[in-house]
Amino acid sequence: MARKLVTVVVAAAIGGLLAPAPAAAQGAADVAALQVALRAVHVYDGSVDGVAGPATRAAIRRVQARRGLAVDGVAGAQTRRALGRRGRPRLGSRPLARRARGWDVAALQFLLARHGFPSGAVDGGLGPRSDAALRRFQAWAGLAPDGVAGAATVAALRRPAPRSPLSFRRPVAAAVGDRFGPRGVRFHPGFDFVAQARDPVWAARSGCVVSAGRDPGGYGKLVVLSHGLGVTSWYAHLSRIGVRRGACVAAGARIGAVGSTGSSTGPHLHFEVRLRGAAVDPAGSLR
Ligand SMILES: [Zn+2]
Repeated sequence: MARKLVTVVVAAAIGGLLAPAPAAAQGAADVAALQVALRAVHVYDGSVDGVAGPATRAAIRRVQARRGLAVDGVAGAQTRRALGRRGRPRLGSRPLARRARGWDVAALQFLLARHGFPSGAVDGGLGPRSDAALRRFQAWAGLAPDGVAGAATVAALRRPAPRSPLSFRRPVAAAVGDRFGPRGVRFHPGFDFVAQARDPVWAARSGCVVSAGRDPGGYGKLVVLSHGLGVTSWYAHLSRIGVRRGACVAAGARIGAVGSTGSSTGPHLHFEVRLRGAAVDPAGSLR
């Protein structure tokens, strides 16, 4: 027990060290907002990942050349001005609510996703899904869920993304394909294990079944286990569910089988870890 506790504490400490510093998170959010603007003017079709890589710099140079600016691949004030309403204003310079558009909205959407509340496409427009994600994040962060991203919400989003205080074992005997993070203009909130149809799916940690059935969203046949400390694990697109709501299972117990139900293009296990509802990167807690 004591050893377990030490492991958890050490894992949490390492998680804290590895989490991006607030300044880095802000920088990534600005790059993501830039990528959204570059997509809108059709010079960039890469992922909105917040990383200023070669494709992003090439896109900046195309905009600069097109507008007769100095071509340096760096998005300074002039380049952002050339991007029009998508190039401004900075996140935190005004309160954001439903129907707002612009650079700051894209940065907000990116930060919401990184904190475990993806909202559909990161596109610089604060629509109903972003509004819902914003309110859920505010409630999560202990703020009034009023759907207005002011100074307190932005400050909370500049803190490091949450991590799971609990560790997990692999829920299936398969390699990880898509990981947690940006995927195109969207954000993938978990791990995809490249498993075969009907492979057994195991509880990644002991816990109790809080949900077992067909999800009305895209998860298909879904099992959700609760592990205490506000941590849940999610097993989606199953072909078969082998547990009932309310049952408690040991780590490694078989809870279902891999499938391709819901929004899925082929058999795989979509696995999520959530902390009080926020999707967290399983990489930090998977053993
Ligand atoms: Zn997935």
